[in-house]
Amino acid sequence: MNQMFDPARPDALCAELAAAPRKLLIDGAFHDAEKGQVLDVIDPATGRKFAEATAGGAADIDAAVMAARRAFDDGRWTGLPPARRQDLLLKLADLIARDAEELALLETMDNGMPFMMARMGGAMGAVGMLRYFAGWATKVSGETITPSWPGEWLGYTRREPVGVVAAITPWNFPLAMEVGKLSAALAAGCTVVLKPAEQTPLSAVKLGELICEAGFPDGVVNIVTGTGAEAGAPLVTHPGIDKISFTGSTVVGQHILRESAGTMKRVTLELGGKSPTFIFADADLGRAIPAAAQGIFGNAGQVCAAGSRLFVHESVFDQVMEGITERAKTLKIGAGLEPGTEMGPLVSAVQRDRVMGYIDAGRNAGVSLLTGGGTLGEGGYFVEPTVLVEPGAHLSVVREEIFGPVLCAMRFGDDDLDALAARGNDTQYGLSSAIWTQDITAAHKLANRLRAGTVRINGSGPPDPALPLGGYKASGFGRENGRAGLEIFTELKTVTVSLN
Ligand code: NAD
Repeated sequence: MNQMFDPARPDALCAELAAAPRKLLIDGAFHDAEKGQVLDVIDPATGRKFAEATAGGAADIDAAVMAARRAFDDGRWTGLPPARRQDLLLKLADLIARDAEELALLETMDNGMPFMMARMGGAMGAVGMLRYFAGWATKVSGETITPSWPGEWLGYTRREPVGVVAAITPWNFPLAMEVGKLSAALAAGCTVVLKPAEQTPLSAVKLGELICEAGFPDGVVNIVTGTGAEAGAPLVTHPGIDKISFTGSTVVGQHILRESAGTMKRVTLELGGKSPTFIFADADLGRAIPAAAQGIFGNAGQVCAAGSRLFVHESVFDQVMEGITERAKTLKIGAGLEPGTEMGPLVSAVQRDRVMGYIDAGRNAGVSLLTGGGTLGEGGYFVEPTVLVEPGAHLSVVREEIFGPVLCAMRFGDDDLDALAARGNDTQYGLSSAIWTQDITAAHKLANRLRAGTVRINGSGPPDPALPLGGYKASGFGRENGRAGLEIFTELKTVTVSLN
């Protein structure tokens, strides 16, 4: 595979990173934390520290929120012609495309993902997201609605920016998540305080540099790296924030919902999943097997929509298991910067230990493992692609989100679709799902019965900025992407006019 990067670059970049901690972007300038704290940035492929990032606290969050508040209230962003906001978003997209290689390097060193995934899914995915939402900046619109009152009336609605947005993001696809939230919020006319995940602060800091270079007015985007407890928590309760857009775990999402109730913030949550994949007897197994394997081993399973529960018709179960096991055993596992790597390490020692805890719990409950089940190498946070067969429906490996390369595979017989859907829906989550069958009636009937925000029938592509994304049940609420993803950053105002 052509990795398209200069192997000397990581060293140059590492030297630059080692020289000084990455700083906070507040009101158009880069700052240290008021209390001077820093976070260690660890390479998940080696377990070694290679950089530091500023660890913002309550005082830094306050400064960032006040800057975003001023930038919103004085109209330096909201008051710009929409076409000017569009131009700035497009300019930022161009700068990210220009520096895609550097951003991908940062993302791989920080998160561990394969370089090509960081480049195409991360950096170029962010470019696509910005270009898509740039188009929406000039298309935010309301409706005219005639009231049924006596006489002559005009009624119309306006979509107005919701205000100052707190964007809180996870570590699994750092840049894509950050830019996804920023692009929609900025297109709607909001100003933003971004709090990236503490495990992966580097691409966000580089993004801040590009935002300054693009010429966004000061204070429109502020970026405070730091931990959930020290930087995330004060952001959630800050009275200057109007809306929280959060992606992360269900537990933290629930906490944010409770904490934000006191100030009546608007909240959208993109949370965890335990998504089912169904492979029927008539499925095109040549496509279904690699897709099911990629669906759980891609990004080492650290994907909210990972297909972590696989239901396979009993007549093809052995064949499917053989194919997935073969894939698990031949995946090239290694550091994300090694050419040809298909699966990197997990993001942290904590995440590795958490995933191994689930595997051990399954093993201790007597579940058989078709493949995997161990860690790999020394120093880095590698876990083998693992397949568990027929774990009891009550076990934690089936019920809880593992967020690692661990697949639970179960058979189904000639059950009716209601019974099959009930097995798929037997989870607190409802984020995504996949169906493989040639029977279009069965596929659509099952799609109707699944309580999930996304259903993919016979394949899918990478995340598309035009397609709404979000979950039922404990997978969150609200939708990102598409028109729905723009509207979550707006308030709807009704105006009536008497023409009598
Ligand atoms: P996490 O919930 O621990 O952290 C997410 C973010 O929240 C981080 O920036 C963290 O610092 C911050 N945070 C933590 N505690 C906080 C608090 N008390 N107040 C405010 N902010 C706080 O999640 P994670 O471990 O970083 O990410 C993995 C999770 O994210 C998984 O559960 C995964 O399913 C989910 N996820 C969901 C989607 C989706 O679109 N639905 C996408 C990616 C990841």
